Amino acid sequence: MIVAKRKPFNEIKSLLKGYGKVLNVGCGTCVAVCLAGGEKEVAVLNAELDMARKLEDNPVEMGAITVERQCDMEYLEALDSMVGGYDALLSMACGAGIQFLAERYPDKPVLPAVDTTFIGVNQGVGWYEERCRSCSSCVLGLTGGICPVTMCAKGLYNGPCGGTNKGSCEIDKNQPCAWQMIYERLNAQNRLDCILEITPPSDWQNQIPRTVIQPGYKKPEKG
Ligand code: SF4
Ligand code: SF4
Repeated sequence: MIVAKRKPFNEIKSLLKGYGKVLNVGCGTCVAVCLAGGEKEVAVLNAELDMARKLEDNPVEMGAITVERQCDMEYLEALDSMVGGYDALLSMACGAGIQFLAERYPDKPVLPAVDTTFIGVNQGVGWYEERCRSCSSCVLGLTGGICPVTMCAKGLYNGPCGGTNKGSCEIDKNQPCAWQMIYERLNAQNRLDCILEITPPSDWQNQIPRTVIQPGYKKPEKG
């Protein structure tokens, strides 16, 4: 899932400066699961903003709605009849959801309330760890299911580098060397031949926005 964390309160408050009526839009999927931007977090943030602005003698009227997914136009329709009544929209979705909201309502300021952080896993309640940087050329089949782009400090597709030291990374001795872990995993699986396979330099595809169209689907014509 996409993992995000709420922005510092004062940053959010500052973004809303000058707006008297704001609709806070939560997202019911990834950011709800990672406790950053679901229905509960919308209610908590609204209560904090309400109190802070009252104390400043500059009240704000905060509306609240949480849609199933902000990155899916079909779920944004529910907002169409509400948005006109607000000065600005605050979004607690990931960066993709925030941008989709801004695209649908180009006349409204759309402001982010969370920082989108990584694609990760849930290790425990409130504890998330990065696992993927969406490089578009997944090599997990050769690396024993350990992502070198995410877990290696240099993001090496072919490793280890010369700095690996007794299982630790040269960048931080508390950080295990990703390529040592890959070696051990492949060794345990009798697949060490995989580590000898050279992965060519990545044709980095994330310098421009990438598009995925699944087999059997096509991009609709515009207009
Ligand atoms: S190699 Fe790593 S960053 Fe690239 S797609 Fe696979 S898991 Fe994600
Ligand atoms: S020591 Fe290991 S994890 Fe650290 S940069 Fe080198 S190969 Fe990557």
